[in-house]
Amino acid sequence: MTIERKQPKPKTCKNPACGEKFVAQRLGQAVCSPKCGLAIKDVNQTKARKALADVGRRDIKVRKEALKTRADHAREAQAVINRYVRLRDAHLGCISCDKPATWGGQWHCSHFRSVGAAPHIRYNLWNMNRACSVCNNH
Ligand SMILES: [Zn+2]
Ligand SMILES: [Zn+2]
Repeated sequence: MTIERKQPKPKTCKNPACGEKFVAQRLGQAVCSPKCGLAIKDVNQTKARKALADVGRRDIKVRKEALKTRADHAREAQAVINRYVRLRDAHLGCISCDKPATWGGQWHCSHFRSVGAAPHIRYNLWNMNRACSVCNNH
């Protein structure tokens, strides 16, 4: 029985700027010379940096998108609740002055504690009352 040594097949250098045929001297050798090795290392690093920057940009965009929709939802929820409170308190007068329910002016939904001062209870119905536009604006 004879052991047949296969003739190593020449590979093509992985450096696109070179493309030379070469016979690998060691396992996994992908380039014809150390110089070409350095060249593709540079290319790969640039590619990796670019990919990383791309991912970062996409991530920021996604986060901005999420933030926008969260703000939109908050605005929509607030509008619905405000309408609900105005209807709930339709039979009541102004929470802050003596205007009766029959007052013909504009009615607002007033936060007893302002949204800015107490954002955690902005949707709390006990924190919201019908108020005339005069009181709510002051
Ligand atoms: Zn080469
Ligand atoms: Zn009032």
